[in-house]
Amino acid sequence: MTVTVEDVSVRVGGRDLVHRVSLEVAEGEMLALAGPNGAGKSTLLRTLYRARRPTGGRVLLDGEDVWRMPARRLARRLAAVLQESGGDFELSVYDVVAMGRTPHKRAFDGDDATDRAIVADALERLDLAGLAYAPFDRLSGGEKQRALIARALAQRPATMVLDEPTNHLDLRHQLDALNLVRGLGVTAVVALHDLNMAAAFCDRVCVMDAGRVVALGTPADVLTPALLAEVYRVDAEVAIHPETGVPQVSLRTGGSRLTN
Ligand code: ADP
Ligand code: MG
Repeated sequence: MTVTVEDVSVRVGGRDLVHRVSLEVAEGEMLALAGPNGAGKSTLLRTLYRARRPTGGRVLLDGEDVWRMPARRLARRLAAVLQESGGDFELSVYDVVAMGRTPHKRAFDGDDATDRAIVADALERLDLAGLAYAPFDRLSGGEKQRALIARALAQRPATMVLDEPTNHLDLRHQLDALNLVRGLGVTAVVALHDLNMAAAFCDRVCVMDAGRVVALGTPADVLTPALLAEVYRVDAEVAIHPETGVPQVSLRTGGSRLTN
C-alpha cells in the first residue's frame, strides 16, 4: 500500500510538534525516519496508526484517509510496533503475539489452525519459540521488543509502522529484525536512531528536526557530513562500504567543538 502524508501538522498547546510534513511512501518501500530526540518522529508515526489526530493535513493509505477508516479495517492493513510498552499484560508471549490475529477474526472466534500456524511462524521468525509460554512481563527489553514485532507480523499487514524497533536488541537481533521487515516486502515507515542500519536497510531516509522534514532522499544523498553536523551537531565522516556499497557513518568522537 502507499502511505501519503499530506501537509500534516500536530499542534499541542500552541507548539507544532510536527509542522506541515508531506511525504509519500511507495508500495513496498522502506522509509527510515531519523532525527534527534524530540524531532517529532514518534508524533508523526502516531498520526499514521491513528493514535494522534493531526491538527492539519491528512494521512492516506492507498488514497483512503486513515482517520475516516473503521478501526478494524485499518488494523487489517497496518500494524504498529511501538517503543516497548510497559508490562501491564499478564499474558504469555504466545498470547501477546496471538493478539495480532484479532483484526482478522469476529468477536468471540477462537484461534483456528491458520491463526495458530501464523502465530507459531511469527514466534519462530523472532527467535521466540522457546519463550512462547513465558510471561511477557518477565522478558528482557529486547525479548519484549521481539514479541511486539512478532505480534505485528502475525497481523499480516500490508503496511508497518515501527518506532525504534531495534532499541534494546543486540546486534544479531537488530539485523534479523530489519532483514525480516525488509524481506516481507511490505510498505514500512521505521524510526531508527542508527543511521548505518537506516542506510543498510531502507530505500530512503527522512530526517526530521524540530517537527519539520529537513532532508528526504536516498541514504547516500541524505547522510552527508554537512547534514549530520547541522542536525545532530556531530563531526562525522561518511564512507561507502567497499563490499556492500552502503554509506556508513563514522563519528569523530574526540572533542566537542561543535557543541559550542
Ligand atoms: P521523537 O520521537 O523524534 O524523539 P516526539 O515525537 O516523541 O519526538 O516528540 C516531539 C516533541 O513533542 C518533544 O519535544 C516532546 O517533548 C513533545 N511532545 C510529545 N508528546 C507531547 C504531548 N502529548 N504534549 C506536549 N508535547 C509533547
Ligand atoms: Mg520517539
